[in-house]
Amino acid sequence: MSENTKWVYGFGGGSAEGDASMKNLLGGKGANLAEMASLGLPVPPGFTITTDVCSEFYANDRKYPEGLKAQVSEALSKVGKTVGMDFGDKSKPLLVSVRSGARASMPGMMDTVLNLGLTDETVDGLAKLSGDARFAYDSYRRFIQMYSDVVLELDHHAFEELLETYKEGRDYFLDTEMTADDWVKVIAGYKKIVEEQLGRPFPQDPEEQLWGAIDAVFGSWRNDRANTYRRLHHIPESWGTAVNVQAMVFGNMGETSATGVAFTRDPSTGDNHYYGEFLINAQGEDVVAGIRTPQTLTKRAREAQGEDEPSMEEAMPDAYGELVKVFEKLENHYRDMQDIEFTIQDKKLWMLQTRNGKRTAKAALKIAVDMCKEGLIKENEAVCRVDPHSLDQLLHPSLDPDAPRDQVLTGLPASPGAASGEVVFNSDEAERLAQEGKAVILVRVETSPEDIHGMHAAKGIVTARGGMTSHAAVVARGMGRPCVCGAGDLKIDKSETFFTVAGRKVQKGDTVTIDGAEGRVYAGAVPTVQPELSGDFAELMTWADKARRMRVRANAETPHDAQVARDFGAEGIGLCRTEHMFFEADRIIAVREMILAESKKGREEALAKILPMQRSDFEKLFRVMTGLPVTIRLLDPPLHEFLPHSDEEIEEVAKSSSMDAQLLKDRAHKLKEFNPMLGHRGCRLGVSYPEIYEMQVRAIMEAACAIKKETGEDVTPEIMVPLVAKREELALLKVRIDEIALSVLKENNLKLDYLIGTMIELPRAALTADFIAEEAEFFSFGTNDLTQTTFGLSRDDSASFLPDYMRQGVFERDPFVTLDREGVGALVKIAVEKGRKTRPDIKLGICGEHGGDPDSIRFVEDAGLDYVSCSPYRTPIARLAAAQSKLQQS
Ligand code: PEP
Ligand code: MG
Repeated sequence: MSENTKWVYGFGGGSAEGDASMKNLLGGKGANLAEMASLGLPVPPGFTITTDVCSEFYANDRKYPEGLKAQVSEALSKVGKTVGMDFGDKSKPLLVSVRSGARASMPGMMDTVLNLGLTDETVDGLAKLSGDARFAYDSYRRFIQMYSDVVLELDHHAFEELLETYKEGRDYFLDTEMTADDWVKVIAGYKKIVEEQLGRPFPQDPEEQLWGAIDAVFGSWRNDRANTYRRLHHIPESWGTAVNVQAMVFGNMGETSATGVAFTRDPSTGDNHYYGEFLINAQGEDVVAGIRTPQTLTKRAREAQGEDEPSMEEAMPDAYGELVKVFEKLENHYRDMQDIEFTIQDKKLWMLQTRNGKRTAKAALKIAVDMCKEGLIKENEAVCRVDPHSLDQLLHPSLDPDAPRDQVLTGLPASPGAASGEVVFNSDEAERLAQEGKAVILVRVETSPEDIHGMHAAKGIVTARGGMTSHAAVVARGMGRPCVCGAGDLKIDKSETFFTVAGRKVQKGDTVTIDGAEGRVYAGAVPTVQPELSGDFAELMTWADKARRMRVRANAETPHDAQVARDFGAEGIGLCRTEHMFFEADRIIAVREMILAESKKGREEALAKILPMQRSDFEKLFRVMTGLPVTIRLLDPPLHEFLPHSDEEIEEVAKSSSMDAQLLKDRAHKLKEFNPMLGHRGCRLGVSYPEIYEMQVRAIMEAACAIKKETGEDVTPEIMVPLVAKREELALLKVRIDEIALSVLKENNLKLDYLIGTMIELPRAALTADFIAEEAEFFSFGTNDLTQTTFGLSRDDSASFLPDYMRQGVFERDPFVTLDREGVGALVKIAVEKGRKTRPDIKLGICGEHGGDPDSIRFVEDAGLDYVSCSPYRTPIARLAAAQSKLQQS
């Protein structure tokens, strides 16, 4: 940064120094304000202090870079000139708003100050200038309240209490009933509170006010709320926020003024009609805060919701007409659905913000598909418009339409989805209970940014107050949590132990079910049904499938999971964990018998019991997957998961195997390992006890033959050996696998292709992949174990301390969720290169959990693997992520 660095970018009056492409420097809000100003839209003039200033501020012990003050002062006087006012001037005082604006939108997480520049002197100037004393004093008291809270960090309850008491004393219900005189008295009271709490009077120097607010906004980049939000949304701390200082326009200037928020399409359903809310004679945050219930934007919405209060279309037709023109211009310009903030000051429309609107997954799909059909975007762009993570919302159940219901409450359908859980009334408790594994529904009067952790922990959210754009609604939609808000009949008792609705009581801890798509709350747990994935979803998926290179398979063992996967578009099975086929009660005894057998003979007896079960399992799997590849992994049981623990379990095995219980107990004790994840598992078991894998290979091949005879279609089993570290392990086992496979084919007098390959899940295997590929016809990267062994980080134990690593920035992501490109990724790349060198046509896939994580899928595309394999419900996510990875490949 040099002395001449430009720290401040102005906008307004039909031009701007920045534009929409400068989001990194100006933040989202600043860049879009500049863009709107250049488009000739009515934007109050202002300037943006860059995110670089934020970085300098934190790098230099909260000091600002040289030259900033002069640039701010120059920009401020330019703003004053544009509007014909002057900052601090007694007769024509320029007032400004000071707002945060990071690169990625973080709604409500950082600080905002409005009406800045008001003092005991300038407020009189504003009163004269506007000819409306009530408005001027209302603005001043708002400013004192907001500034005291945000900048001076005083206790806001004292201010709220004073106002409530004042209103009660005069039998007022709404703020709008307060007169100018009333506000003057409240202001005197407010200033007294400030002086008592602060030990000095409320600052009367506008310059001091301005820098206090700028400090507070930059400071709020690292407040707890913002830190939590960033962590949840993977926003790097290094990005910093910009600060926007903008001339105030007033929505609280009487009945011809208003403030509102709007979306150019419905953010919940994606329907192509304008959607929003507004409040007459109100300012900025009133709409979002959910304190007064706002009115609808359009006549259509008012009628649909059965509201009496007129819509904006009816109450302010001229301003509405202007707004509609702006909607069209912005949507065509940005080619995406916009989320807009506006103010009407004495009938004139002003634009305060636009950004690509947050939306539900359902809306995202519909908007992408519609915009493509409208010719606004291309198919491949539409594919890239939907966040694969968000599909999760659609892949989850909704309420069973035939299930009986006992409705407790109705409210607004703020965020779709269905969820059941215990009622809790505060966010800390919601978080604590969720950590204990309980499903909770957070019920609040309204939510604020302080509730973010509770909302995240909860399965669903219900609020008594607030509209569709209230904090609860916006945040819940972003998180994909079902939410019902503005449930006016909901009365939460002060004790926070129960709520009532028309006399009906629901206690804390009672189970309720919420339906966010309908805006309803039911008593008890209502059964749910799986979603139908047709319409927009199916259409977008076809476009995604056209665009992707990689195949998508699923990890599945049961015919049910395999069917779900196939219905979701899986193109085969990438991992069938055979040990998971043994968890059922009748099978686990036989498996325990096999593990605990003292001799080969004992083991063979146990295996003979297992063989028919395995064969029939494989037959079912092959039948569901006819025509598609199925990778079956030979047994890989971490022993501790299978050893009998209780006397009762030992007794069961003793009975079934006619072995002595005490002997079995001793043997189980002997087999106990200190470190089972690195113990006698995977192919090591096959090396020690060849008969186990021999039985499995026989079952696989007999099943394949049976299905070929039954359907006439070829089945190509891919037999996979787990946890290989050395070529020799695989070589040894491969001889036996081939022997059994060929003899089964001979017995059946059939010809059938099969492949033998290995998991790559140990660093040594990756590093010696060229040798291993001499034996292996395919590799499947087991990145769960590869992550565990590369980091030396236990899959089972790390959850207790990983959060410390994340909080302190050692890990930005959990490496078991998102693949670590630098370390684990490097090993994958080495193995790909070495594997292909030995065997150019080697088949390569990934079957660790990362196979269903969109960020990891991006890496897998870059690494050039042939397919990803993930859990059945993630199949559509993987299909979309694979398409985006290909389309956006760097
Ligand atoms: C792996 O290690 O990534 C893998 C898929 O195998 P498992 O999770 O069964 O150990
Ligand atoms: Mg593994």
